[in-house]
This record gives sequence, C-alpha cells and structure tokens, in this order.
Amino acid sequence: MRQIPSVVKHVVHQDLCTGCGICTSFCNEKVIKMDWNSQGFLIPVQSGTCSQDNNCISVCPFNPFPEEKLKTETEISSLFLDTVSASNHKKLGNYFNTYAGYSIEHRMKSSSGGIATYVSKILLEKKIVKYIINVVESKEQNHHFSYTIGGSIEEVSKSAKTRYYPVTLENVFEKITSLDGDVAIVGIPCFIKAIRLAQIKNPDLRDKIKFTIGIICGGIKSKFFTEYLTQKAGVSSNKLSSIDYRIKDISSHAGDYSFGVKTTNSNDLHDIKMRTVGDMWGTGLFKANACDFCDDVSAELADISLGDAWIRPFVNDGQGTNVIITRTSLADQILQDGLKNDELHIEPIQKEEFIKSQKGSYTHRQDCLSYRIKLSDLKYLPPKRVKSKVLPPDVKIIQKLRRQTRLNSLTTWANTHDAEKFDAMMKPSLRKLRLITKFNHYKRGVVDKLKKL
Ligand SMILES: Cc1cc2nc3c(=O)[nH]c(=O)nc-3n(C[C@H](O)[C@H](O)[C@H](O)COP(=O)(O)OP(=O)(O)OC[C@H]3O[C@@H](n4cnc5c(N)ncnc54)[C@H](O)[C@@H]3O)c2cc1C
Ligand code: SF4
Ligand code: SF4
Repeated sequence: MRQIPSVVKHVVHQDLCTGCGICTSFCNEKVIKMDWNSQGFLIPVQSGTCSQDNNCISVCPFNPFPEEKLKTETEISSLFLDTVSASNHKKLGNYFNTYAGYSIEHRMKSSSGGIATYVSKILLEKKIVKYIINVVESKEQNHHFSYTIGGSIEEVSKSAKTRYYPVTLENVFEKITSLDGDVAIVGIPCFIKAIRLAQIKNPDLRDKIKFTIGIICGGIKSKFFTEYLTQKAGVSSNKLSSIDYRIKDISSHAGDYSFGVKTTNSNDLHDIKMRTVGDMWGTGLFKANACDFCDDVSAELADISLGDAWIRPFVNDGQGTNVIITRTSLADQILQDGLKNDELHIEPIQKEEFIKSQKGSYTHRQDCLSYRIKLSDLKYLPPKRVKSKVLPPDVKIIQKLRRQTRLNSLTTWANTHDAEKFDAMMKPSLRKLRLITKFNHYKRGVVDKLKKL
C-alpha cells in the first residue's frame, strides 16, 4: 500500500491546511505538490511514493507533534525575537511598540495605510535585502494572484493591496537559497510560522530571510469568495483582467470599501459596496477550517505586524490607516526614520487600543477556541495556548452557527456556482446567525452599561 506523507495524513486530511506550500519544498522525494481542492483552497496532494522521512510535517504550522522548543508561537518567537529588550503581552506576543498611521506616498494605492508597501520599499532602498517576496497579480493559469520574487521599487509598488484569495509559497520558497541576495517576505501569520520553522530546519534560510512583514489575518477565503463577489458585481465571465478587494471611498469611513473587477474584454470597472453583500467576515462565509483553530491574531512571529485600524478616530477616515506592532529594533527604526523624514504619519497607541482594533478576532479566535475544539472531532491538533472557558449559551449558539455557515457556504457554492441560488440557500442560516448575534450585542451593551453604574 502507498504510504501517505505525514503532512497529508495529519494535517490535510483533518482539513487543517492553509496552503502555505512550504511542506512541498521540504519533501526530498518531491511527491507532494499544491493543487486546488473541491472547496476552492490550495492544498498539497500526493503524486508519488512517500519515504516517510516526516520532513514535510516538521515545517507545517499545523504540525500536531511539534518538538517542545517549537510547541507554539510563544516558544518559536523566543528563538527569533529579542525577548530581552522587547516587552511581552499575552495577546500581542513580544513587541517593541504599537502605532497607528500611514505612508504619505503609498496610502491611497494600498488597502489600509500602505505601511506594508512603504516598509518593503525601504528594505530595498537601504539594501537591507535585495528581494521582496510578496503577492501580485498572477501570470499562472487558474490563479488570479500568486507569490513572486521582486527586486525593484516598481515591482513593490505594483504589489500593494490585500488579496483575499488563496496563494502559496510553493514555487518561490525553493528558489530563496539560490538567490544572489537576502530577502524579506510578506505573509499572514501561519505562513510566517511555516517560514520560521523552515528557518530552524535549514540555517541557510535563517541567513537569507532577513525580515518578515506580518499581515494580521482573521482568516483566509476560498477562491469561491472571489467567484461569488464577481457575480455580485454583475460579471458572469471568468476572464478577469483585474480584481480589487479594497476600493476606498474617501467620502465615507474605512470599512465602507468596495470590491471591483475588470474583464479582459473592456476597461469598465464593475464594483459593489461590500456592505450590500452582508457580513462576509464575522459569519465565517467561505473561510478555511484551519482558521477556526488558529490563535495567532497579531502575526507574533514577524518583525513587524500590520493590520487595519478598526478603531476611532482612525476608522472614520476612508483613506485607511494601519495598526502596527514593531517586534524588532530594525522594524522600529524604519518607522522612526520614516516619521523623521516626513514619509510616515504615525503615532503611538496603547496596546489596549491595538487589541480593541482586532476585538472580534480575539473574541472568536482565542476566547471561543476551547469550545470549538470541544465541538470538533479532530484527532490531531497542534498545541494551543488557550485555557478552557465557560461560554454563555448565546455565544455557544453563535459558534455552532458560524461553524455550520462556513461549511455550508463552501458546499453550497461548489454545488451551485450561482450567486442568486447561493443567497437563497444561505438565507435561513444567515438570518438565524444575524438574529442571535444581534441579541448578543444587545446583551453586551446592557452589561457594559450596568458595569458603569
Ligand atoms: C486573508 C487576509 C485576512 C486579513 N484579515 C485582517 C483582519 O482580520 N484584521 C486586520 O486588521 N487586517 C486584516 N488583514 C490585513 C489588511 O487587510 C491589510 O493587508 C493590512 O492592514 C496591510 O495593509 P497595507 O495598506 O499596509 O498593505 P499594502 O501596502 O496594501 O500591501 C499589502 C501587502 O500584502 C501583500 N499581500 C496581499 N495579499 C496577500 C495575501 N493573501 N497573503 C499575504 N500577503 C498578501 C501584498 O503583496 C503587499 O505586500 C487581512 C489580510 C489578508 C490577506
Ligand atoms: S499548512 Fe502549509 S505546510 Fe501545512 S500542509 Fe498545508 S501547505 Fe503543507
Ligand atoms: S487565521 Fe490563522 S490559520 Fe487562518 S489564514 Fe490567518 S493566520 Fe492562517
């Protein structure tokens, strides 16, 4: 009987893969490669005989059997970050400073405040690295976006904007050690964890990867999310020339952005305000299963972590503002220099403000994780840092409904590929979820008011 690679058996078959693709680079036999699954995610699939050396699983962020020194993000971070000079907070990890702000040059062409693009540019300009590995429009068939290796400021500028679409490091990661210079990588937290594990496994990568830019992440979306939004924007063709998930409305608030597409036939933009399609994030629609078992909200293993400032007063500004955590002295220096040179508009914020900006994510991902673990029938799961917590009945119902909504959305789209039918079929469960969530918000409001008395 053909042996199954450990990462496939213990991670992919448990539906805990987020598609980073780093396991494929570490497979000596080259018997796994990334491909689309039936739910619109990229996963490793087996194409030959596995030698059972377990190399693949040693770099997987969802490895259920990590060594003690690599048990969770907390242990891994102590191997990479300066734990002596940095502060530590249980929700933030090791950090130097927390800020909110934007890049004066890159803000308007970016998703949030443009700090990811700014930092990438500075790393190249100051020759701290020769290449930036980030996500751009794809030249590959069947992929709208993919990771690439770029070495020019022009390439970095073109890479701006967040893509809520499955991407993998599969094709670029193997090339890193043969490049004629050092690199920086932009990635979501689980990808950064895989990169750190790979750096431990291969010291050459530790030398070559000089900087990581962590993109704070509330969950990855299946490619079905893009297909659904494209239809909602009035486009039936799948021949798309450009996709923008975050078109800003500077006359409105930061959350009031649009999704827009152009087809290869014309230059007309077809767009739709995201608020008109309902809550795509809190409901769990089109989300990967693994994201419900991830407790790294703030990209704890990156040199710098960047997210959206979903807090007042910043959220009122439709031009977009980042929340920022610096975790190394180099990251902090880049920001301080940018401030001095009038290239950045940033201000320190309290760590509590940062946490508030990701409140929904912390509540769902950390406070409710032990309940989801209890609900699940997972045989293998990496160690998590959460304590068991008793949840009120309404929160338990919300968790159950989110789990159902997530799975239903993926199977319903796979069966219909039709936005109108999808909306009709998802309506009853989304309605239930909306009502109970409304009740929960009302209850929390009353409790908060009573606490202030
Ligand atoms: C899947 C996903 C979920 C997210 N969830 C949250 C959240 O819950 N809360 C929050 O505050 N912020 C979240 N973000 C981050 C947020 O959308 C912005 O990306 C972040 O604030 C950086 O903004 P910026 O203006 O500095 O980036 P920009 O200057 O616009 O640059 C974006 C950078 O990210 C890279 N990139 C684009 N797509 C991806 C991708 N899929 N994976 C890795 N790199 C990519 C680009 O190549 C570019 O380097 C999420 C991002 C992603 C990709
Ligand atoms: S998360 Fe990454 S390393 Fe783990 S199985 Fe998926 S592609 Fe491989
Ligand atoms: S929520 Fe966690 S597991 Fe999911 S994509 Fe984001 S970082 Fe990865």
